[in-house]
This record gives sequence, structure tokens and C-alpha cells, in this order.
Amino acid sequence: MATDPLPADSETQLRIGADGLFVDAAHEEAFIRAEWETLGTRVRQIGLYGALAFLSATFTDLSVLGATGVYWALLAARFVILGWGIGLARLGRAKQVDSVRRVAALLLGFELSIMVLFLLVVLAYGGSADYHAITALALIFAGYAYVPILRREALWVGGVFTALFAIVVWTALHFDTKFVSIAVVLFGFANVAGWQIAVSLSRSMRLAWLDRRRLQTEARAAQEARRHAEQSEENLERLFDATPMPLVLARLSDSRVLRFNAAAKTLIDPGNRLSEDIFTMDFYADPAQRGQLLARLQAEGAVRQMEVRLKTVEGLPLDVLVSTRRVRFAGEDCVITGMVEISAQKALEHQLRALAYTDPLTGVQNRRGFFAAVERAIQDAPAGVGGLCVILIDLDHFKQINDRYGHPVGDEVLVEFAQIVLSLLRDGDVFARMGGEEFCVLLSQTQAAQALEIAERVREFVAAHPFQTSVGVVRLSLSLGIAGCDAPIQSIDAVLSMADQAMYRAKQGGRNRSALYCA
Ligand code: GH3
Ligand code: MG
Ligand code: MG
Repeated sequence: MATDPLPADSETQLRIGADGLFVDAAHEEAFIRAEWETLGTRVRQIGLYGALAFLSATFTDLSVLGATGVYWALLAARFVILGWGIGLARLGRAKQVDSVRRVAALLLGFELSIMVLFLLVVLAYGGSADYHAITALALIFAGYAYVPILRREALWVGGVFTALFAIVVWTALHFDTKFVSIAVVLFGFANVAGWQIAVSLSRSMRLAWLDRRRLQTEARAAQEARRHAEQSEENLERLFDATPMPLVLARLSDSRVLRFNAAAKTLIDPGNRLSEDIFTMDFYADPAQRGQLLARLQAEGAVRQMEVRLKTVEGLPLDVLVSTRRVRFAGEDCVITGMVEISAQKALEHQLRALAYTDPLTGVQNRRGFFAAVERAIQDAPAGVGGLCVILIDLDHFKQINDRYGHPVGDEVLVEFAQIVLSLLRDGDVFARMGGEEFCVLLSQTQAAQALEIAERVREFVAAHPFQTSVGVVRLSLSLGIAGCDAPIQSIDAVLSMADQAMYRAKQGGRNRSALYCA
């Protein structure tokens, strides 16, 4: 298929006229050039076959005219036509057409010359009209069949020839009314039918060309779009690989990781131990967290800055802020995830939280830590399971220890005292320094009687214990107040206040004793 010399945007203006040719001359020329392979073959056949057929009629000339001067003149003319036809055939053979106008003019001239010469032959022969009419009809059909017509004037050749033939018949030949009535019908039919065939052939050839052009344009556009898509995909891939933020692309259906960039590899696989097939679920420290993330992704299409704990290929914990969104990649529903590591921040946060909840002197929980522990204990308590007790512990006459040995020795005693109590308690019990020389034990799922037993154990141990300090052995006794409540508790403050009242009774009772709160 020849290249298309017309810009694609003139497509809309490509109108075909009633004569089957493009209205615009430039479009017509573009069509002829583009379709020259077909049209040129046609021109070649017309030139060659037309000229040979015309030459062969010289035998009829000889039989009718004999070897007269007129005969030789006609023969010379027939050879001129042969040369013309060969010239046309050569033009038609060419791969490309140099000048469309020239070829079209030569073709039109060729047709007209043959018809004019035919009329001269008719005049030379003389005789009756019916004999010549047969050849004239054949010529008219051939004229219309010289389609595709390269220029619209060629459409009139048949009509003009018919008129000239009529004049010749009228002026120089014998005819009768029977001939005239038949000739009018036959010549009329030849012209009308020939015209219609020529127009519809021209039109259908041009329409077919337009169709092919449209398909070509569409194919080009599709190719361009494909190239564009490939290019932008390539750019995206480069960006994906080069970005310093860890990025992971995973398929939604099975969570298979399709791509991850260098930053992601450094983060999750520092030891370079990754196998071929990896799946996102293998990297969540807590599967429930992954469930939450997926649920949010499902509901909102994207999740921004969610804190997630992952684990590396080696299983080391990794705290990250995750932003993720759904995308289409290679025709599949996927999820692209960007991560920022926050392990250091999380560790610091943990440290600060622990500090805020810890008593710096004894290392046990402080007042804030105690209340946080209470909250946890209440939350974690299985429904319908036994209540909760507190033991409030106050060191007896502690001021005297400070006064006698100094404040630093008092501190030593406080530290050792805390260690002793911790060692006497169960794992789940909470022990906290509430302030000064006052401590508290929280016992969950414990009855008051059990709490009293524990309190007595602590009191007896401390009373018998020689505290080893920098100034020698120091003795210490405790007053303990115990209060309990059945779950669920309404207010820990109320329980603490009851324990405080019980402790007050212990002090009143002479110290170094435990007292259980009773309403
Ligand atoms: P009681 O038997 O009535 O409880 O007598 P007490 O002396 O223990 O009670 P009081 O409330 O009169 O005195 C508490 C003392 O505890 C006073 C304070 O100096 C001391 N104390 C509080 N915090 C610390 C501390 O961190 N280190 C030291 N060494 N002493 C402390
Ligand atoms: Mg006190
Ligand atoms: Mg005291």
C-alpha cells in the first residue's frame, strides 16, 4: 500500500461528489497516487488492449477500402494510436505516477482520438448506419468502462461520441425509421447504464480507499498509544526502582509480591536471603494488623500512614508507617505500598513511656504506672471471675530512720524493701510506690482472706529482715491496710480509700500489723 500523502485531520473533508470522484482536486490526486498500483494496471491494460484492438481493425479497412490512399492514411493513424497506447501502458507500469494531470489528460485524449478516428472510418466506409452502430455501441461501453476515470470530463466522452455519431449518421449514412427507433433505445441505454456503472465503480473504489485509510489511522493511533503506555510504564519503573522510599507492589488476589525496589530490599532483606516467591503476609508480625489494613483498604481504596509492625526476612521486628493504595498493574488488581521505618522512634517512645511509669529510686512502678496497671487488670479480667484486692503498705516510723542514719540510708532501705516485696509476690501482681514511703500491691482475682495472708507474709518477712545498709543493719516494720471488692469494680479510688482506712487502723493498733477493711 502506497504511503498516504494527506494529513489525517483532513479526513472529515473528504467528500465524494455525485460523479463518484472526490470533490476536492487535491484529495482526488492523493487517492490516485495512493492507489496507483491498481489504477496504473488499469491504465496499462486500456492503453495496450485498446490500441491493439484498434489496430486489428485495419484488416476490415483493407477488405472494404482496398489498398487505396485512404487505407494507408488510416493505417498510419492506427499506428499513431498504437504508439499512444504503448506510451500509456508504460506510464501505467511505473511504480509511481509523476504527474496525475498528465496521465489523466493522455488517457482522455486516447479515448477521444479513437472515437474521432472511428467516425472518420465510418465516413470513409459510407454505407448503412446499422452496420456502424454495433461498433459505436461497443465503443461507448468501452469508454464508460475506462474506469476508474482519472478526471471527471472522461464521463462525458460517451455522450459526446453518441452525439457526433448521430450527426455522422444523419449527414452521411443511409438509415430508416426502424433503425432510428432501435438506435435511440440502445444508445440511450448504453449511456445511462455506462454512466451509472462508471460512477458507482469510481465511488466504491474511493470509499474502499477511505476505509483503508481510516483503518490505517486507527492502527497508527493504537500503536502510538501502545508506545506511549510502554514509555510511561518504563518511566514509572525507573522511578519505582530509584526512589529512596521502600516500595512494594503486590497482587491483591494472593498477596504475592510482584515488585519491590532497592530501598524495600534493604529494609526487609538486609541479609539478601529472599527467595523467589514472596508474599506480603509473611512480613506481618501480627496477622491481625494485616487484617485491619486490608479491611481499611477495601473500604477506602487507600490507607495513609498506618503504624504497622513487620518483621524482616530474618524475623527481626520492624516498625513502619505504611501508606498503601489499590492500583491496576498489568491487568491485575494490585496494591502499592510505601513504607517509612520508625523502629528507632518506637523504641524511644517505649523507653519514655516506661520511664514515665517507673519510680526512679526503686525501679518499681510509680503512681501513674499503678493506675495504668489497674486499668489493664480491669480490662483483662475474665467476666464473672473473682474480684480485686489492694494492700496499702506504709513503712513504720520511717522518718526516724532518715533522722538517725541520714536520707541516703533511708533510700537504701527503700530500694531493698521494694526488692523484697517483689520477690514475695506472684508474677501477675502489681507492686507500685505510691509516693514517699507508701507502697501498694494490686492483686487481681483474689479474695480478701488471701490478700490478708499475703500481707502478713510480707509483714513478717520484713519485720524479721536485717536491712544491710552502708551504716550497718537497720530494722523495719510495716503497717498494712487491705481492702477488696467483687468484680466489676466501679472505682479504684474507693478501694484505695478503704485500704487507707484499714491501714490507719493498723497504725492506731500499734503498727507492725495488717488490718482488713470492714465497713
Ligand atoms: P508513721 O509510722 O506514722 O508512718 O511514721 P513515719 O515517720 O513513717 O511517717 P511520716 O509521714 O511522719 O514520715 C514519712 C517520712 O518518709 C518523711 C520523709 O522524709 C520520708 N521519706 C519520704 N520519701 C522519702 C525518700 O524518697 N527517701 C527517704 N530517705 N525518705 C523519704
Ligand atoms: Mg506515710
Ligand atoms: Mg510511715
